[in-house]
Amino acid sequence: MSDKYVIAAPAQPAVPVVGGGLFPVRRIYCVARNYAAHAREMGADPSRESPFFFTKPADTVLPVAEGGCGRFPYPPATRSVDHELELVVALGKGGAELSVEQAADCIWGYAVGLDMTRRDLQAEAKAKGRPWDIGKVFDCAAPISAIVPAAGKVLTSGEICLEVNGQIRQRGDLAEMIWSVPEVIAFFSRYYRLMPGDLIFTGTPEGVGPVQPGDHLSGRILGVGTLTLEVVDR
Ligand code: MN
Repeated sequence: MSDKYVIAAPAQPAVPVVGGGLFPVRRIYCVARNYAAHAREMGADPSRESPFFFTKPADTVLPVAEGGCGRFPYPPATRSVDHELELVVALGKGGAELSVEQAADCIWGYAVGLDMTRRDLQAEAKAKGRPWDIGKVFDCAAPISAIVPAAGKVLTSGEICLEVNGQIRQRGDLAEMIWSVPEVIAFFSRYYRLMPGDLIFTGTPEGVGPVQPGDHLSGRILGVGTLTLEVVDR
């Protein structure tokens, strides 16, 4: 232990990279309702909303190495934990008030992520006009596959599909995103100075639903990879 800190310093959250190395995570930004069909299944009208977002702490990442199976511990204080399969963008550059073109240049790579959600707690927070944090933030709330390097590459299409116990639960295409990857990055940069190490969860297609201990999840995005998880008791 270093003498610099009065307690042991927390570990730097990091995600493995396909081909080797580790991507250090600074912040996790998440976009809500970026697929029209999912917005409708949550009772919203996608044509009437501007993008909005929330965050998860960096140490909620649950990195799963390529070819591995992660163990997602069922979180406390909930009876309804939902899967939301999402394309994750890893930023290698940052900036503030970026144009869409500058935003594309910030892309370092992509991963397959799950925005795990305590839906009952989120619904209660929504009903009471409270922040969503208690629904979206808990240990291991952001499982993520190894990151595929793709500097400056804008993904505009590709199937995104989640199976639970071998049954397809979510299936869509990245082309259905209401706001494109560079638009999402540019949007966040109006509110925050983005930095290398930031991850952005870009929203989920329709078909979100609950998981139970013992479930096996396999999410894949064409051209990005596969994220495999088992839900386990805490
Ligand atoms: Mn989400």
